[in-house]
Amino acid sequence: MEVTLQNLTKKFPSRDRKKREEVTAVSDFTFKIPDGKLIALLGPSGCGKSTTLNLISGLQKPTSGKIFFGEDDVTGLPPEKRGIGLVFQNYALYPHLTVQQNIMFPLENLKGKEKLTREKMLEKAQAAAKLVQIDELMERKPGELSGGQQQRVAIARALVKMPRVLLMDEPLSNLDARLRLQTREEIRRIQRETGITTIFVTHDQEEAMSISDMIVVMKEGVLQQIGRPQEVYDSPANLFVAKFLGTPPINVFRGQVRDGWLYLGTEAVLEAKGIGNREVYAGIRPEGFRLQKDGPFGCALRGVEVMGRDVSVICQSEASLDPQIRAIIDSESTVDPQAPVVRFGLNPRKVLLFDRETEERILEG
Ligand code: ADP
Ligand code: MG
Repeated sequence: MEVTLQNLTKKFPSRDRKKREEVTAVSDFTFKIPDGKLIALLGPSGCGKSTTLNLISGLQKPTSGKIFFGEDDVTGLPPEKRGIGLVFQNYALYPHLTVQQNIMFPLENLKGKEKLTREKMLEKAQAAAKLVQIDELMERKPGELSGGQQQRVAIARALVKMPRVLLMDEPLSNLDARLRLQTREEIRRIQRETGITTIFVTHDQEEAMSISDMIVVMKEGVLQQIGRPQEVYDSPANLFVAKFLGTPPINVFRGQVRDGWLYLGTEAVLEAKGIGNREVYAGIRPEGFRLQKDGPFGCALRGVEVMGRDVSVICQSEASLDPQIRAIIDSESTVDPQAPVVRFGLNPRKVLLFDRETEERILEG
């Protein structure tokens, strides 16, 4: 089911009684979520992700704007009429009911034409449980399950009616690191198998990058960029997006473009063809540095860290905004950890320039 947001806006009265002004949690969102895809709403805490999801589910009413599921305008419909499945961070299972009863619960409430026989309900519950691989645990109570298993029950419950749209708000946040990885792969698999359009809220960029077809990056209620994960990583619209995606994060420098070259400090480090003289921020991805004996960019060497496959060179530069620069080099190359200075060549595709004032990306002319 394609989901369309049209000029969607949600304002809240200020929580601070002394302040009058409203909080705009979601500001004029217009975009389409394609049918059958998994998309992530990504941004730091408070940027409006849950509010956006609650508007799509119908738990909250927009201040203005519209929501369509396919051709249907659902803006005025209550949640139970929208055909959605919801999964939250805290699994919200009924503790006194078994797994089977929990999964069946949404079916028990169907009325009139939609009412199902008990047999049919059991069949659907079984199918949903199988999909999330908890069909062996049907007689247990939630208290007898691990966090990961409880979240699977919650997902099965959200799927049992075969919703038009599946909405998940930070569904992995209560799980430990290993289970998070495993469960996110599961969610991806289930989404592929069912083909249900899924909207997944997270503040974790790696999680978003790893499972979604598309990410929507948000900041303070304002949409920053929509695109395929790799596209947004390689070609961020602004400095905020560039900094929010990637671990280790992008290294940011104050720089100048002069006569077709990018300068960091006094060194001309890279050609910047077609860009007029101006002050910039230069973002260099950790993987954009290459050790090079007479390389154009020199930094004070502070240390070398080996972590599994990666070798990180930690260094400093006057031009850097952050106290340390982290360059990831291939593990075959070696750095003399005693050397005072390390010199780099830069991969032009990994060097991104931003306007010093607006922080918007500058594209080469
Ligand atoms: P996220 O899920 O990205 O952390 P939210 O959507 O929960 O963000 O919140 C976005 C903004 O709206 C925040 O500034 C938050 O304080 C505010 N907000 C959310 N819900 C309410 C509410 N019921 N009343 C007032 N302000 C709210
Ligand atoms: Mg939230």
